[in-house]
Amino acid sequence: MRLFSKRSLRVALSLSGVLGAGVLVMRPGPVPEVGGLPAVFAVPAELAEVRALGRGQTLGGVLSDAVDPREHHVLLMAFEEQATPRRMQIGTEITLRFRRADRWLRGVDVVLNADSTVRLTRDEAGWRSTVVQTPTWTDTIYAAGEIEDVLWNAVVQSDALDGMPIRDRAQLIHHLDQVFQWEIDFSRQIRRGDRYRFAFERQVRPDGSMRSGHLIAAELTNRGTQYQALWFEPSGDGQSGYFGPDGRSVQRVFLLRPLEFRRISSRFTNSRFHPILKTWRSHQGVDYAAASGTEVLATADGVVTHRGRLGALGNAVAIRHPNGFITRYGHMSRLKADVRTGTRVRQGDAIGYVGMTGLATGPHLHYELWRGGRPLDPLGVNLPPGDPVPTSDRARWEAESALRVALLDRGTDFRVRALTKGGDVVALASSGSQEGGEAR
Ligand SMILES: [Zn+2]
Repeated sequence: MRLFSKRSLRVALSLSGVLGAGVLVMRPGPVPEVGGLPAVFAVPAELAEVRALGRGQTLGGVLSDAVDPREHHVLLMAFEEQATPRRMQIGTEITLRFRRADRWLRGVDVVLNADSTVRLTRDEAGWRSTVVQTPTWTDTIYAAGEIEDVLWNAVVQSDALDGMPIRDRAQLIHHLDQVFQWEIDFSRQIRRGDRYRFAFERQVRPDGSMRSGHLIAAELTNRGTQYQALWFEPSGDGQSGYFGPDGRSVQRVFLLRPLEFRRISSRFTNSRFHPILKTWRSHQGVDYAAASGTEVLATADGVVTHRGRLGALGNAVAIRHPNGFITRYGHMSRLKADVRTGTRVRQGDAIGYVGMTGLATGPHLHYELWRGGRPLDPLGVNLPPGDPVPTSDRARWEAESALRVALLDRGTDFRVRALTKGGDVVALASSGSQEGGEAR
């Protein structure tokens, strides 16, 4: 049973966020008929003017005609406690709030980014500033369908994701690709008639855009074979990850590739003609063609053992991983400043950017995987699987994974929306049965 449409629920939740209401209680039932009420008109006490910072304009300039010069200085000082006025970008939204009666400036809001706004308020003592966080709510969205051509189209055109911006849908596909990367190559293996189902938990801003999100359960049926990935967070300092219904990790110790957007331009081989050296040499890694500046990711947890020039590899990073593995990344234009010898990195951390330093004819990443002093073919070797669900977490896993599988089975009837403020859930609303749902 759907009690509320997605949109009306969203409006209700964002309203309760604005009003700072407590728990939102919504009861179904017949709407009482009370007849028409006369409309009430009241002139708001406040007059708000929204301006966008133009080219060549400064925040100080915009504020200068709203207050006298002495006040202007105090106002900018208060702002400077939160952000740098000279760093404001063109288009920055500035709201001037005046007392209607005498156009006395009582407040200024300056939007810093999608998640924060500097709020300047006036009192007897002068001007005070605070940063207001854009409220978000957490919801779980569910989508399922059959793939007609490519997964991209299936997800982008899904009715279940109505109201989700296209950029966020692209993010969703990226999450699916990350989770299933070791099992399915989305660009080559998807066939017409393949099916997908997933539940995705996200933090949503009032404008409907997503602050962050992660898959909590996903399933892909590729040519009759079913792949399931269930999100789980082991206790202790274990990282959250994805596991199959049997508790085995669906992830590997190494990412399949060190770049998001890539094309393999040269594979691992014991003999190839080198385009610069003009001789036959072995190629002890894989080359990925990518635009200069594309982020390069550490493929596994480890410790940085080298950063900087490394012969023909140019600007390079080497990382030592558990069990005798080493990875090397070459030809980078720039390295991340916080990646130094001895730095611990996590799988998926950005370590630098694609470039063409060293011996390279064009921008690409040269990637090597070594073990015991011998180079391995990163695309040919059977990468070791990630750790399964720890034995100590087994009971919790059984309970949580059952809920997540049920989420997949429950389908489109299921919706839980939780409004969070500063990380705390302040309101809950749901349609469908929500018993033991995913609101955490
Ligand atoms: Zn290479």
